[in-house]
Amino acid sequence: MSYPSGRHFLQIPGPTNVPERVLRAMSRPTIDHRGLEFAKLALEILEGLKEVFRTSGQIVIFPASGSGAWEAALVNTLSPGDTVLMFETGQFATLWQEMAGKLALDVRFVPGDWRHGVDPDALETVLREDRGHQIKAVGVVHNETSTGIASRMREIRKAMDRAGHPALLMVDSISSLGSMEYEHDEWGVDVTIAGSQKGLMLPPGLSFNAISDKALAANKTARLARSYWDWQAMMTPNRSGFFPYTPATNLLYGLQESLAMLRAEGLENVFARHARHGEATRLAVRAWGLEVLALNPAEYSASSTAVLVPQGINADEVRKIILENFNMALGNGLNKVAGKVFRIGHLGDFNDLMLAGTLSGVEMGLELAGVPHQTGGVQAALEYLTQVAQEARAHAAFQHA
Ligand code: PLP
Repeated sequence: MSYPSGRHFLQIPGPTNVPERVLRAMSRPTIDHRGLEFAKLALEILEGLKEVFRTSGQIVIFPASGSGAWEAALVNTLSPGDTVLMFETGQFATLWQEMAGKLALDVRFVPGDWRHGVDPDALETVLREDRGHQIKAVGVVHNETSTGIASRMREIRKAMDRAGHPALLMVDSISSLGSMEYEHDEWGVDVTIAGSQKGLMLPPGLSFNAISDKALAANKTARLARSYWDWQAMMTPNRSGFFPYTPATNLLYGLQESLAMLRAEGLENVFARHARHGEATRLAVRAWGLEVLALNPAEYSASSTAVLVPQGINADEVRKIILENFNMALGNGLNKVAGKVFRIGHLGDFNDLMLAGTLSGVEMGLELAGVPHQTGGVQAALEYLTQVAQEARAHAAFQHA
């Protein structure tokens, strides 16, 4: 492509499009992070985040990518040799368990086919068999960004309760927070792991732990070595709005703005918008005669969709053609599904017309790349989006009548 005019379509499942409002907020001059103006900002954000995580408990913010918050969750609650139970739902679950192994934890990694989320029944069985309560923590990736599959958190919580097992529940909500329903308190999550670059609509660089009282209690006896990630070192200065080291001040300006945006739209509306875009995308994929990686409709992700390409086609070649011709980046297949899928991110600051543009780029790319398919995917998505809009108008008219 010669000069790529117009806006680049960043349709990977995170980092997501950063809205102008957030970019502008971040362009303000950096201030003294030991001054009162900063403390006011930090206190407001730490409080505001609670609405998004749906917790009344503690939240900490690390200047780090999401992986930092994975590590923080583990080192703050566990001791060397502790057993953790994780499930192979995809690439991010695989990376997290690798990290746990490197931290001298004893990982039980239940194999998976990358086409399903965590099976609540399998979880219950493993926990019931663990009569001596060797398993200290269960780690679940809520939304597997690598597969577009969301584990059923309510059922997972119930399975743990049925088994009567005391393990901590740690949940990676990196690509679900701020885009799909997430309930830290109600689901009895002990540590939630999140990052800035997806539903929170910020650039990468901030990560989060939301922490239950049970996790705080575990923290008192946890013996894994920790320094940078130490919750206590973070929480003590946080009480007055300060950090133990230099915070990412300008990202925090952005976060203040993105929290205001989420509040203005209303979380329920944010979730409904993502669900609508997930459904419209899957309708397009089906109309193309292609398949999504997720096999269980109860586990469809609202924030990203992995599309299988027919055998003999390299999904990365399709992505390359779409990037070169239409200036749109799609997510690549990772690890076991490398070359077999491309991923469409439909999360963050996104609307119906952006999705229409995204799906148009994919449909044209399928044609250019010689992928056997039927046309009409975009049309199927547009019809669905129109129908939802019509229903919303009818509903609004009824409310005002
Ligand atoms: N977990 C999930 C579900 C992710 O999607 C990602 C990154 O995309 C990570 C963990 C790792 O986060 P990061 O790359 O920000 O360290």
